[in-house]
Amino acid sequence: MLFRNKCKTCDYWTVFELKIKDDKALKICTHCQHQEEIDWNSNAETLISDGEKDVRALQGHFPALARLKNRGDHIRL
Ligand SMILES: [Zn+2]
Repeated sequence: MLFRNKCKTCDYWTVFELKIKDDKALKICTHCQHQEEIDWNSNAETLISDGEKDVRALQGHFPALARLKNRGDHIRL
């Protein structure tokens, strides 16, 4: 599953890949390949869907965010 957020490692807004395995999930920045293992629970799901909502809200001011669609896409605002 892909979702958009800001990567704390490369500091770009980018596309993340989420690989869920049982109660853990691997969050991978498709730009710098930084990986982070997180506990996969309803909190994490909320965090990710809230992040997507932020991106959608920001798109009004920064239309470039709408270009984040595929693995490796990244922009700095
Ligand atoms: Zn990154």
